[in-house]
Amino acid sequence: MKPEDLERWDKKYVWHPYTQMKDYIEEKPLIIERGEGNYLIDIYGNKYLDAVSSIWCNLFGHSRREIIEAIKNQADKICHSTLLGAGNVPSILLAKKLVEITPKQLKKVFYSEDGSEAVEIAVKMAYQYYYLKGDKRERFISVTEGYHGDTVGAMSVGGSELFHGIFKPLLFKGYRAKHPYCYRCKEKNCDKECLKEILDLIENHANESFCVILEGGIMGSAGMIPFPDGYIEEVAKTCKKEDLILILDEVATGFGRTGDMFFSNRLKDKPDILCLGKALTGGYLPLAATLTTEEIFNEFLGEYGEAKHFYHGHTYTGNQILCSAALANLEIFEKEKVLEKLKPKIKLIYEQLERLNELEHVGDVRGRGFMIGVELVKNKDTKEPYPYGYKAGFRVAKELLKRGIYMRPIGNVVILVPPLSITEEEIIYLCDALYESIKEAL
Ligand code: PMP
Repeated sequence: MKPEDLERWDKKYVWHPYTQMKDYIEEKPLIIERGEGNYLIDIYGNKYLDAVSSIWCNLFGHSRREIIEAIKNQADKICHSTLLGAGNVPSILLAKKLVEITPKQLKKVFYSEDGSEAVEIAVKMAYQYYYLKGDKRERFISVTEGYHGDTVGAMSVGGSELFHGIFKPLLFKGYRAKHPYCYRCKEKNCDKECLKEILDLIENHANESFCVILEGGIMGSAGMIPFPDGYIEEVAKTCKKEDLILILDEVATGFGRTGDMFFSNRLKDKPDILCLGKALTGGYLPLAATLTTEEIFNEFLGEYGEAKHFYHGHTYTGNQILCSAALANLEIFEKEKVLEKLKPKIKLIYEQLERLNELEHVGDVRGRGFMIGVELVKNKDTKEPYPYGYKAGFRVAKELLKRGIYMRPIGNVVILVPPLSITEEEIIYLCDALYESIKEAL
């Protein structure tokens, strides 16, 4: 296959997600053929450090033998059989493992394939839970600019104006507090107004709401905006007080990305429903899970004729190959003491990024663990943003590509979500290249 043919056919036949195809068709595409450790290799043999972990899902590089062998071994036995009313071996073992490593009151695992589905399931579960108790609640509580996926239910509980604003008439309704955004906050002395706003919503609307839903510690797609310390803790406490279901969406933050295995593990008041996805298989295959409590699960039990069951299930729910990949991925965590080794790397990357603050067009460097955002601004003093059409983030991405780094920005925010397996040398190279790229591009 000639690279030129692939480029031509890519432009001719493939519609790329989150991509302005007019621009894509005019430019030379990046087409990946292979992966090797932390690197992507294109059809010309060029190597790129995968600085966004293939959209925040890869953990240990692209060629971990353990995960590949697990996939192959399972494929030799059986590739797929249904979970609708029947079990399979890897899905049982994985559910047991997930219950062991997540907050202890989460006891039941419902599988799906992507983060958006994990959220749809969580939302439907919460709604039906109250419904079955004879309590018809039709609202949810969340924050503006939250992101939980692109399906209709996930868009509904999200709040991205840019991504989902036009679909508003199709979405179900909720209450949204203004999301925290410390860099652009007008408050002189922080009195946590943002927190008060969501707590007020919960206190005033708990009786008509079926859930509060938030991302786990940092708002990824909003541009890597961390929740202030204590914010989610207070929300969790108030949900408990008001007897309202809290859904934590750890699709992006789960499995070590923020430095902890899960953000929820640190909370005193734990979520009632937890959504996992992305890195569950180490970034090899699409698998997601929605975990919940015995109390919620029990509400769906009844005589068959009562039709209380959870009528939700995708064809490939709990697929054996996906679950086997996840089991191999979780074994690596234990075997290699991944989280311990991660701490000094997290420290190093923030030290190295410090220098970006010298640059004229860097407004804010922020993050939680290995979920990092660098907000580019037209004017540092006034914090004036670049217009969207200026593609400030993509200008930097292009420069990084020249330096052998693949990075996918969100608007004016440079996004770094490196694999946990990134080395100290690669961190230093990445941060130096980013400094040069921002200087060159803007
Ligand atoms: N929730 C969060 C917090 C996410 O960041 C994402 C994806 N970026 C999703 C849900 C949706 O996951 P998926 O793209 O796998 O559907």
